[in-house]
Formats: sequence, structure tokens, C-alpha cells
Amino acid sequence: EEKKTTNFIYNIIDKDLEEGTYGQKVHTRFPPEPNGYLHIGHAKSICLNFGTALKYGGKCNLRYDDTNPLKEDEEYVNSIEEDVKWLGFEWDDRLWASDYFDEMYESAIILIKKGKAYVDDLTAEEMKAYRGTLKEPGKESPYRNRSVEENLKLFEEMKEGKYKDGEKVLRAKIDMSSPNINMRDPVIYRIAHASHHNTGDKWCIYPMYDFAHPIEDAIEGITHSICTLEFEDHRPLYEWTLNEVGKWPTPPKQIEFARLNITNTIMSKRKLKKLVDDGSVEGWDDPRMPTIAGIRRRGYTPESIRDFCERIGVAKANSTVDEGLLEYCLRDDLQNKVESRNVVEDPIKVIITNYPEDQTEQLEMENNRNNDELGVRTVPFSRELWIDGADFMEVPVKKYFRLFPGNEVRFKGAYFITCNEVVKNEDGSIKELLCTYDPATKSGEGFEGRKVKGTIHWVDAKTAVKVKIRNYGTLMKKDENGDDVFNPDSLEETFGYAEPSLMEAQPGERFQFFRHGYYIADTKLTTDTEKVFNKIVDLKSSFKI
Ligand code: ATP
Ligand code: MG
Ligand code: MG
Repeated sequence: EEKKTTNFIYNIIDKDLEEGTYGQKVHTRFPPEPNGYLHIGHAKSICLNFGTALKYGGKCNLRYDDTNPLKEDEEYVNSIEEDVKWLGFEWDDRLWASDYFDEMYESAIILIKKGKAYVDDLTAEEMKAYRGTLKEPGKESPYRNRSVEENLKLFEEMKEGKYKDGEKVLRAKIDMSSPNINMRDPVIYRIAHASHHNTGDKWCIYPMYDFAHPIEDAIEGITHSICTLEFEDHRPLYEWTLNEVGKWPTPPKQIEFARLNITNTIMSKRKLKKLVDDGSVEGWDDPRMPTIAGIRRRGYTPESIRDFCERIGVAKANSTVDEGLLEYCLRDDLQNKVESRNVVEDPIKVIITNYPEDQTEQLEMENNRNNDELGVRTVPFSRELWIDGADFMEVPVKKYFRLFPGNEVRFKGAYFITCNEVVKNEDGSIKELLCTYDPATKSGEGFEGRKVKGTIHWVDAKTAVKVKIRNYGTLMKKDENGDDVFNPDSLEETFGYAEPSLMEAQPGERFQFFRHGYYIADTKLTTDTEKVFNKIVDLKSSFKI
């Protein structure tokens, strides 16, 4: 099947290769800030950056964007690396932006010496007022025309710790009347008396993102710096910085693409962290979370995520992708890969009154009807069975072809069974169904005498194992005002009776539960004695590709 992708980034790279802009080199990077777990939006960026390097035989760095003095959280760093590897990619170099602080400082000095940067004493509020608006040009700061010598001295003093946070900043001297507000003398260094996980107390001034990022890219020899659309207006500053610092003859090129959004979930580390911190979810890897750790635990495969990222392609306009597409990609991947098992939920007991009391047969079942290579297994069948609550109706509705009093159906892989009597408990609920089987109709023996319309699955009662099942709804929902809020009904715990082989299920193993959907043995909760399954996705959906 031919998958269509429109990738304007490849067009840009093809042209650069043709013109030899960077020789024949292609070098990208994935630059996460280690302040949370990666989400599926990051997966798109990972697939794009690492995928582009693979496509062109180039390189891709994993670079921690740690220019903010933050406490390094080893948990986040480890999770990022695990996630990139799980998605199937390998980085060439693993680097920390904070290793370039010296070179960033030297770059700032170059700008000051060229008269392209100055120390400003305006407060943050004053600077904001001076910046102007889209309609109105900004006003120049009274400190804008300090001499190079004074700027060098003040910047040195900023570095030495002579001033408090916010007392002074270093600004690029560009154009206070530029139509692009990012070019109205943006701040490039600020004072922050805070320790850094890597550089400790060496610095009390830290570079701003728009100044630091192009320098990081240039130092690493990145050719194509792929980022999300909100940085489009920052590109002139990216180019200005590299051009004015002037150390790199063929500076990297910033290319923007649209951020990935998906319906009924959120794509922001900050908001996801809040759900973790306030206990709405069980952690960053809660199977409801759109984090890579969450969807991995939920049962998604790396193949399905890569396929999804390829299908959505790269666009220049922001949009929200239907969660149905993600599920489609998963089904498409699992359908021929995983084995089927019989599990019943909301169970109803069936007694086959004409079946010998002490007999058990081992019946053969196919593991995957689309893939013979997955072979067969045997499943016990005897006088007492469980069927699914959804497969019986005492008073059938129109066109109901499953079991009801007087009706005959096929028990999948076994016999034709007729329901003769419904036995009730004192409270009126169903105790059991008394049924009979027709030995002549055994599956696989070519019975052609009559046809039945319904086929249902079943589990042998004597050998059934009870398994826990966790069904998930969407993480977020709309409240009465149309705002996105946490969906408190997003987890439903239930149980099922399963054929005995599921007692062998290993954490992380996936199955199709016949007619119910795809499931994975939860990697955290499944033990030798207790099997807990996450529902990954339904078998079918109304979503159309
Ligand atoms: P968040 O707001 O969730 O923290 P971020 O962009 O601040 O996201 P970073 O750690 O800076 O997070 O992101 C690393 C890379 O992943 C960046 O290049 C960023 O553009 C990209 N990225 C982040 N979110 C998305 C998204 N939803 N779709 C595509 N790329 C994304
Ligand atoms: Mg960021
Ligand atoms: Mg962020």
C-alpha cells in the first residue's frame, strides 16, 4: 500500500543537496527541555528529525535544551532516552546545551564589541511598555546608546554577580520599529542567581532561548533546524544572531512545521505534569496519558506511532488530528500480529445438560484468522461454560441472532447449542442457562445439516481464570463551558473469565480478546498470580481514513 506524504522539508533539503549548501551533509537534532516526559507531539518531532537523518544517511543529535538553571531531573533524562530508543531511533551524539555557555558568552561579547548589543537598566514592565504593539513602533531605551566600553564593563559586572535578578539585561540592538516585535531589541541575556545542574554556580547570567538555540545548532554543525510553527516569527532573530556573531560561514537553516494536536487529549508537558502532581492520573506513564510512556504502557507499538507520524505528514498549518487515526494505525499493526483469546465479561453461566458430567474435550482454535503462521491452540470445553453477558437476551430485540430461549447458535470452535431454559435467582437475576448441544455439529467435521445465524464465544467454567480488565475513556473532556477538563470517568475497572492459557500471559504481551478488542498485560500490575489487562483499542471503529 502506497502511503502518501507531502514533506516540504525534504524539498528544502533536496535543494540544499543539489546546490551543495552544506556539501552533501544533512544533520538534524531533537532538542527536548528535560522538564517532563515526552508526549506524542514530541514523537512527531522525533520521527521527523531522526527520520530525516536516516532518509539522507545523515546524523541526528539528542540535545538537552538545559539553558534554564533548572534542577536536573534524572528521571526525565532517563525517560527521554528510553522513549527515543523505544520509538526505534538512535542518536549520534548526546549533548547538553549548557556545555556551550562559554561560547555563548563569547558570542555576546562579539555582539557588544560590534555595537550590536547593549546593557539595559529598564525594568521588565518598562521594557514591555517601550516595546510598542503591532500597530505602533517601539521606543528606544535611554540606555540604548551606551558606549562599547561601558557595555563591556557592565556585562562583565553582570557576570560577576554585582547585580540582582532583573536589575539589568543584555539586549540585541536591532530595530525598535521593526514590524516583527521579536526584532525590537530582544533580551539575549538575563541575570538569574540560581545554580545549574551542570555548571553549578559558575554563572549567574543565562542566555535566552532565541539567542542560545541558533548558537547551539551552529556549534553542532546542524544543517536543518526543524522546530514548531510558533517559532516562525523568531526566524529573523535566529538568522540575525548567527549572521552577526559571524563565526559560521554556512549557518544552519531554521524550518518550521505545525505542532501536532490530537482530539480529546492535551499536548503540553506543563498541563500533563499538573495531572500527575494533583493525582488525577497514576503517573506520567498512566495508560490514559498521551506521553510516550503512557501510550507504551497502554499497548501501542512503536510501528503504529511511526506509521501515524508518517500518515499525518508535515504541514505548515496547525490542526487537530482525530484520535481515530492513531487507533486506526494501531489496529492496522496489531491485526495480523497478535493471537486471539476467549474472554467473557459480565459472565452468564451455561449448563449443557446433555453433555457428560466428567468429560472435558480439548478443542483446536486458530490464533489469528488473518495469519495462519500464528498457528493453533487447544481450549478446554466441558459441561459448564461461561458466555458473555452481551451474547444473551431473555427477550430478544429484532434481528438479535445470538442466544435467547429457544434459539440455536454456534459456540465458536465447538458445537451448535440451543437454549432451553433460564434459571433465576431469588432476586430475579439470571442464575444459569440450561442448554443442549448437538454432537453432530462439532466444528471442523463438516456438518451441513442446517445453518445458524449467530456465533458466540465461551470459556470453560472449570478451568477459567479470572483476569482484571481496565477500560479507558478519553483523558480530557469538555465541560459545560466548552473548556477542556480532566475526564473523571476515564478509567473503568472490571473483570472477565478467560481461557486458562491467559494465566501464562507475560507483562507487555498483547492479545485480541475475541470480539472485545485488543489488550495488553499491564507491565506494572501483572504478576505470576494476577493478570491485569489494559484495553488498548476496540476491534472496529466508525473512523474513516
Ligand atoms: P511542551 O509545551 O509540551 O513542553 P515544548 O515544545 O516546550 O513542548 P520541548 O522539550 O522544548 O517541549 O520540545 C522538544 C522538541 O519537540 C521541540 O523541537 C518542539 O518543537 C517539539 N515539539 C513539542 N511539542 C510538539 C508537538 N505538539 N508537535 C510537534 N513537535 C513538538
Ligand atoms: Mg521548548
Ligand atoms: Mg514547554
